[in-house]
Amino acid sequence: MTADAEPQTAPKSAPRVSFVSLGCPKALVDSERIITRLRAEGYELSRQHGGADVVVVNTCGFLDSAKAESLEAIGKGLAENGRVIVTGCMGAEPEEIREKFPGVLSITGPQDYQSVMAAVHDAVPPAHDPFLDLVPPQGIKLTPRHYAYLKISEGCSNRCSFCIIPKLRGDLVSRPAGDVLREAERLVAAGVKELLVISQDTSAYGVDIKYAESTFADRQVRAKFIDLARELATLGAWVRLHYVYPYPHVDEIMGLMSEGKILPYLDIPFQHASPNVLKAMKRPAHQEKTLERIGRWRDAVPDLAIRSTFIVGFPGETEADFQFLLDWLSEAKLDRVGCFKYEPVRGAPANELAGAVPAEVKEERWHRFMAHQQAIAARRQRLRVGRNVPVLIDEVGPTVSKGRTKWDAPEIDGTTYVSSRRPLRVGEIVSVRIERADAYDLFGHAAG
Ligand code: SF4
Repeated sequence: MTADAEPQTAPKSAPRVSFVSLGCPKALVDSERIITRLRAEGYELSRQHGGADVVVVNTCGFLDSAKAESLEAIGKGLAENGRVIVTGCMGAEPEEIREKFPGVLSITGPQDYQSVMAAVHDAVPPAHDPFLDLVPPQGIKLTPRHYAYLKISEGCSNRCSFCIIPKLRGDLVSRPAGDVLREAERLVAAGVKELLVISQDTSAYGVDIKYAESTFADRQVRAKFIDLARELATLGAWVRLHYVYPYPHVDEIMGLMSEGKILPYLDIPFQHASPNVLKAMKRPAHQEKTLERIGRWRDAVPDLAIRSTFIVGFPGETEADFQFLLDWLSEAKLDRVGCFKYEPVRGAPANELAGAVPAEVKEERWHRFMAHQQAIAARRQRLRVGRNVPVLIDEVGPTVSKGRTKWDAPEIDGTTYVSSRRPLRVGEIVSVRIERADAYDLFGHAAG
């Protein structure tokens, strides 16, 4: 994702930074923190590289295709501006960047906010007076004002064999619950209607700090998944949980969902279902009983939507493993699913595994996977037709606006197209009668 932040008003003399944010929502949160610091120090954001004093590129280094996109963004910054600071996941391996672009001013890894700021200061010193009053208390958000990502921890203590994130970002470091909740409270006070809880492993929140208590308002709150969710539920915004693994303690969250306190939505990156492949992937919380667990969740929360991602063509995946995955999908009936063809990531242990799957087999399995899941998703979607559901409006149009139900996260899930007799507002939650559905999107009419 590229996020060129809005230009802001500031005196002519304010130094200008053009910011490119690539990668996942976690990288977006890093970008927001850097931009908040920049704005706090009086830097102006430029929409174009050409008019800026320096370009900052927050890179993604997860897949080779993401690296290629990052290198392209750096090259574009150099061509159009000449002064480029690189940060983010790809910055953790600077050799490749230096080799290709010896002229970049500085390269730092993810979450290294201080070094990025130091590099910006070197390239273009801040204006004399910091414009502290220009920064809203909730910080600068790159997401639209009505939803915001809330990062509860950094890093990951799992060691999935296809992933280099722990190498890039280190082991799990959880934020104190009080900190997270104060940020959430500020966001809601600033007009945010939906909080998207993110991390690398949300259900592991607090394990590293032994679920330490911290103060929020007049009480002590443990840094524990369920305690945090319970507190977030009191803030008056939609709360959506991403990157949850099916550990047994996730069962506890179902009570909050069935009471309507947090959204009936779980984003669980299953990645595969076959025990052989999951073992080779070294996935956390992989158990044979996952289908039973999903069944129990749905008994407790019939409306629960589950979104997930999968990898096909992982080294050693046999036709039997793949068929197991398709059968598992038929049983699991997931609502939203993304699928990737396995791509080796430089430095990942999976590269050493035997049994590479030929490209044409990966391709063929990917198509079979998509067709299979599409039929399942279409059936799930049809269950929503005829219902009146709340929809959060993301974008307004003259006759039809775009929004999302509780079952859809921004950017990764489906859209609800809403026709309405009255003008709608971005960030408004309207009751919509769902009249039609396809495998991805819903179509309906706003009541009233
Ligand atoms: S859970 Fe696995 S895939 Fe996710 S960040 Fe941690 S190691 Fe990587």
